[in-house]
Amino acid sequence: MDFSRIKDWNNFKTRPFLISGPCSAETEEQMQTTCQQLAQTGKVNVLRAGIWKPRTRPNAFEGVGKEALTWLKQAGIDNNLPVATEVANAQHVEACLKAGVDILWIGARTTVNPFSVQEVADALKGVDIPILVKNPVNPDLQLWIGALERIHQAGVTKLGAIHRGFSSFQKTAYRNVPKWEIPIELKATFPEIDIICDPSHIAGTRSLLATVAQKAMDLEMTGLMIESHVNPDEAWSDAKQQINPESLNELIGNLTIRSTEASSFETSSELTAFRKIIDEIDESLIQTLVSRMALSEKIGQYKLDNNVTILQIKRWEEIKKTRMEHAHCEGLNNEFVKNLLQLIHKESIRQQTDVMNKSVTVG
Ligand code: PEP
Ligand code: MN
Repeated sequence: MDFSRIKDWNNFKTRPFLISGPCSAETEEQMQTTCQQLAQTGKVNVLRAGIWKPRTRPNAFEGVGKEALTWLKQAGIDNNLPVATEVANAQHVEACLKAGVDILWIGARTTVNPFSVQEVADALKGVDIPILVKNPVNPDLQLWIGALERIHQAGVTKLGAIHRGFSSFQKTAYRNVPKWEIPIELKATFPEIDIICDPSHIAGTRSLLATVAQKAMDLEMTGLMIESHVNPDEAWSDAKQQINPESLNELIGNLTIRSTEASSFETSSELTAFRKIIDEIDESLIQTLVSRMALSEKIGQYKLDNNVTILQIKRWEEIKKTRMEHAHCEGLNNEFVKNLLQLIHKESIRQQTDVMNKSVTVG
């Protein structure tokens, strides 16, 4: 899809373009106080609040609903800021448009479902307010792109993406693992789409927010969406990850915002020299892989001729142990080396399987 019609819907002059507000609108007073304090920081560009909350388990607080839309809109008017909320179906869109909500976003649990995204897209026909699409909960870039396409096809030109991490069965330090390579790939494919990072839902806990936000800025993301509540510990949803407006002010103030202007450093001779060396190293990495894979093929043939299984667990354990010990001594990250070895091993097995399968078809 051609996203070239996407307008720079907010000429983000200073990064981060900051969206903040509580996870959920709870009471009129909570909205007033939180939003007023956020506006006073002078750093917030858009106020957010969840009106309808998609909760993982039933019987949790599912949002105040429609009534809270007026609190959100009023907070925007009082503080002279645009307001944003999440929509998951046509009724939500309709209610938000009626209430004058300025920006809508599609939540991670909605992006996974093309029926729901299409329903929202249809409800948006003829409307051209900014729409932000969160990544789906599962790490599927095509599904994310598909949702952006559906909204774009409805005629929306002010389109952006929100990176909020991906759920994982494995316990990690994050609530949702960032898998930075996915938003990077999205940006590489569609450079015209601005990406806003949501450190709150990635981190799930206050202590990780700053690191995630800094990383997003270093990856040239346009903005941040960070949940803020006047009394985070008492929040009715996502209490552990919310921070008060004062802490948000501090967090943003402590970020290092590095230049994204290529022109100033692209021509620097030092960088050019480093990049040349990297090019050469990558070239030799590829050559090394070619040689290794050529041997895998030979080994496959040997195993076939001698009726030996492809996978030799002992040998694989030995490879992992020796390579990882060596890499560790050289100061390489254990997890990185393990992943790399697994990838190489998987490809080697694929090659050997090919050799075996060919013999089956020929024979
Ligand atoms: C939210 O922003 O409060 C929210 C529910 O986010 P997500 O869709 O990323 O889970
Ligand atoms: Mn939340």
